[in-house]
Amino acid sequence: MNIVPHVINGQHTPGQNKNHSDIINPATGERLNKVVLGTADDLDVAVAAAQAAFPAWADTPPLTRARILFRARDLLEKHIEKFAAVITAEHGKTLSDAKGEIMRGLEVVEFATGVPELLKGEYTGQVSRGIDAWTMRQPLGIAAGITPFNFPVMVPLWMAPLALATGNCFILKPSERDPSASVFLADLFKEAGLPDGVFQVVHGDKDMVNAILKHPGIAAVSFVGSTPVAKYIYATGTAHGKRVQALGGAKNHAVVMPDCDLEKTVDALIGAAYGSAGERCMAVSVAVAVEPVADRLVEELSKKVKTIVIGEGTNTRTEMGPLITAQHKARVETLINSGVDQGATLVVDGRNVSVKGFEKGFFTGGTLFDHVTPEMDIYKEEIFGPVLCVVRVPDFEAALKLTNDSPFGNGTAIFTRDGDAARTFTQRVNVGMVGVNVPLPVPMAFHSFGGWKDSLFGDHHMHGPEGVRFFTRLKAVTQRWPAGVRSGAEFVMPTLG
Ligand code: NAD
Repeated sequence: MNIVPHVINGQHTPGQNKNHSDIINPATGERLNKVVLGTADDLDVAVAAAQAAFPAWADTPPLTRARILFRARDLLEKHIEKFAAVITAEHGKTLSDAKGEIMRGLEVVEFATGVPELLKGEYTGQVSRGIDAWTMRQPLGIAAGITPFNFPVMVPLWMAPLALATGNCFILKPSERDPSASVFLADLFKEAGLPDGVFQVVHGDKDMVNAILKHPGIAAVSFVGSTPVAKYIYATGTAHGKRVQALGGAKNHAVVMPDCDLEKTVDALIGAAYGSAGERCMAVSVAVAVEPVADRLVEELSKKVKTIVIGEGTNTRTEMGPLITAQHKARVETLINSGVDQGATLVVDGRNVSVKGFEKGFFTGGTLFDHVTPEMDIYKEEIFGPVLCVVRVPDFEAALKLTNDSPFGNGTAIFTRDGDAARTFTQRVNVGMVGVNVPLPVPMAFHSFGGWKDSLFGDHHMHGPEGVRFFTRLKAVTQRWPAGVRSGAEFVMPTLG
């Protein structure tokens, strides 16, 4: 068994090597490996390496940086099977889903290869006589990324390609539950030609996160994870003078209008609620049934939920894998118990499933609740498991109000054939990403990803144009050459002339 190492200054290293955390295969419940839990001293070494690498990297022409990313993109595609296998082993999602997340990450690399175009500033000749002005975007210095377990490749790739393309050095602290893909990523960037110290990986738990948040050498922190941690990251990082974007959890509502194409809507909801065992921040966890659609919707959903194939992720027949840990499975099933106790109708019960040959895996089956109300814990909590709650409402206004009253605002969708309802919904809903007959409205890499309210703390969304802004600062230059210099000191505010 090899211990998953940090990658500091281009080298695999155990660092101080004091503590480890187990990496468990969630389908078997068996230990696959261990990962080092780094210390503040390990971070100091990584920051020093980044500080040494930064001047030359920031000075590297954007086109040269882009060419390294082009090579990284090709290597990522070439090694997609290896990445997918490690994701499935450590996370549990199916191989095809793992490949899907890699492709979504790869799209951000592709977007970042356009950095010469993305960094173009604005130019105005002759802002005054003999004076020209322009703006340019420059890197911040050293940026850190702290990422969750549920997308071990895609979420790091939401951040790193744009951080690097815009001339920053980047230190990634991946989830300690599935950290191996990050090490592969560092090796791949090195093979693509990235200089040592420009992209590094440090492992750890909250001690390493705290060291990052307080380190004076780190200028910016990009975080994705649960809402309580996101709030803490934003408050602590900004208190230490850093630029922070902290994306949090979600409770995504899908509004089902009575005029929708029910068959297509049901298929969309099944994929969005139960894909990746519901462990997606854009998973649909609440279906808001606008009457009189609820009876038909619940009947059709229940038929399909019962047929979801649960199993180990390398089995090509599997549609839904296990949950990430035994503790998480226990939490999801405790919440299902609470739904029953608090009076919701349990239409399909996913508790106590067992997968032949994988009896020690952390599987919970697809679960469907009807008659859920906003006071219930299953409605209020982000369950992050394969549980869909149907809430019945009388009309469109009630559906919109329910969605807007949620403290979360990551994603939402409306299923309808009525263009007016769809337009009104998209205009008035207080949610960052909206789908119209699209259940998981995850923006492509050239747009930006981010929620509202308790789903994002900070001013910038992730990747796309917002990502470029997050990882750069603006400089405005005003220029005059000697022939245009007037004689004599000027004591009034410069004006046109
Ligand atoms: P998490 O918040 O437990 O962990 C995220 C990261 O923070 C990890 O690297 C972890 O080591 C670190 N961390 C955990 N506890 C900490 C603490 N107390 N102090 C400091 N750092 C800590 O999240 P998770 O369980 O890995 O991921 C699932 C969560 O992430 C869900 O809530 C999901 O909605 C959210 N998520 C959100 C998005 C989004 O785009 N909004 C995307 C993916 C996942």
